[in-house]
Formats: sequence, C-alpha cells, structure tokens
Amino acid sequence: MKSQHELCIGSLRSGGLITNYHCSSKCRHCLYASSPRRSKDYIDEETAVNVFKTVISLGCYSLHIGGGEPFLNQEGLKKVLITAGKVGMDIEYVETNSSWFQDKDSAIRLLEGLKTNSLNTLLISISPFHNEFIPFYKVKEVIHACNKAGISVFPWIYDFYGDIDRFPDDKPVPYSLYTETFGTDYTKKLFRRYWIHPGGRALTALAEVYGRKNTALLIKDRTPCIELANTSHFHFDLYGDYIPGLCSGIRIGMKDMGKPLSKEKYPFIYLLYNYGIKGFYDEVVSTFGFIPKESYISKCDLCLDIRRFLVMEKNMDNVEFGPKGFYEEL
Ligand code: SF4
Repeated sequence: MKSQHELCIGSLRSGGLITNYHCSSKCRHCLYASSPRRSKDYIDEETAVNVFKTVISLGCYSLHIGGGEPFLNQEGLKKVLITAGKVGMDIEYVETNSSWFQDKDSAIRLLEGLKTNSLNTLLISISPFHNEFIPFYKVKEVIHACNKAGISVFPWIYDFYGDIDRFPDDKPVPYSLYTETFGTDYTKKLFRRYWIHPGGRALTALAEVYGRKNTALLIKDRTPCIELANTSHFHFDLYGDYIPGLCSGIRIGMKDMGKPLSKEKYPFIYLLYNYGIKGFYDEVVSTFGFIPKESYISKCDLCLDIRRFLVMEKNMDNVEFGPKGFYEEL
C-alpha cells in the first residue's frame, strides 16, 4: 500500500526553467546563488525536450525562462525557444538583467530574432541589488530595444526605477550609496517593496531585516515541510532536476516526477516532509555530528546550513542536494 507520507509531485501549476546558473552578477538576494563563478553549462536540446514534455504531462502548459542570466548564451537561448515551440510549451517570458547589452543596433537585432522564435515578453530586472553590478543605462537601453523590436517589457520592479535613476547610470552603484542616500533603514523598507523569497543567498541579507531565532527553539519544530509539495512557483534546472517548492539546493530527478518518492532514494526529503526541520536536524546530528550555530533566521536558514555542511564538509554527493556550485557560491 502506498504510504501517505511519501512526497509525490503529481501535478504542476506554475513555474520556470533555469537554463543556466552562470551569471554576470552575484546579487545578494539570489535564491539560486548564481554568480560569474558558477559553471557555464547551459541546458541542451535533449534535456529541454524532456523537461517540457514532463511539465506538460503533469498538466502545466507554460513556463518562464530564468537563470543565472539566460542571455549569456544567446544561441542556447534561441535553441530553447525553438524547442519549446516544437514541443508545444508556451514561454510566458524570459528574465534578464540586461548585462549583455553592447549597442542599440545589435540589441534590437537580437531581440527581433528571438521574437521570431516566440519571445513575446522580457522580464527586465530593476533593483538596487542588480544595480551593484549592472550600469542602469544598459537596463534603459534594453527596454528601448524591446520597444523597437515589439517585445513587451515586464519590469521587475518598476518601483525602484526612480531610486536607481538618482545615481549616474554609466557605472554600477555600490549598495552602500543607497543606504547613505535613502537612510539606514533602506534595506528594511526595500524588503517590503520587493518580493524576495527567504532562501539561498537572500538569507544573509534578510538577517539584517528579520533578526535571528535561537536554535534551541527552531529544532523543536516538527511541522512537516509541506512547502516541498508546493507547485505554484516550481523550477526545473538545466540538468533536468526539479527544485521542489522554493527550496533551492534541494532537487528531485525528472524521472521521479509523478510518483511517490521512495524513502530509500530520498531519505532527507522524506524526513523533512514528514518530521520537518526537527527530523532532519536530529538525523544529521546523530549520524554526521552536525554542530549548529547559536541562532538562525528561520528553519530554512538552519536547513540550508545543514545541507551546506553535508555537501561541503562531508562531501556528500547524493541525488537530493545539489548542484554543488549552489553551495559553493552562497
Ligand atoms: S526547512 Fe528546508 S525543506 Fe523545509 S521549507 Fe525550508 S528549505 Fe524547504
């Protein structure tokens, strides 16, 4: 008889495809710990086909594309769009940080070419975190190029445009200038204006905003991590792995979608899904000798620290946690 406690991703609601983790920036709020040091691997055609077919088989017919920075491999991006069209997967939008902009003509040419491959909307990142790495003139130019090429712009988020435009737009702006200019509580206010998931690298930035909780309290929490079953903002990555919920650094193989995950193959996910952070923590302390810090921002911060310990200090190479570059670049 099937156990009720085995996680099963039997249908999908809304999500995206991470084509690459490599990025021109190392934003302090990045959930997927992308950076210039991450591998330049880009999704290949076969994996893209398999991901699209799997997603469709689980009842979801559209995806967005994100990274890393998808435009760092423009041929690769074009192939993904063509593949999506062939398989019948609708692409809602492609995310970009605009770092690839070189000049007006080549940007318009590139976008016009991608439009013929059904790129209709570009989500353009606009935030002080991105502005630490990308001169704002590039963002303005990509918006302009979209207008010329007939591609819709989804500014994420427009609310920051005025803040960023206070500074010269020809070079990146250190984040310290934002707090000097707008006040020391700028970060706190920023997190109210901008949806940022408290995971990955964002957890460090969030400590300043939300403070920390005593570990002794956190490890009493046996509440099952039902977040793992949430498919309202799922992602697949370039290796064909499914990232459950928004629990970056946790993965499920594509072949295991649509059926209960066995306790033997996914023992840690089983613990988290059944016994919450307490079950996971107890197991790793007793089996691997994990020693926690005194405090964490949240159970997810503790979870991430335990996983980082397993991957980086115990050299664990398992199906559940990875890719390793995520843990290296937090
Ligand atoms: S504790 Fe871990 S598994 Fe549970 S929701 Fe947070 S990141 Fe996901």
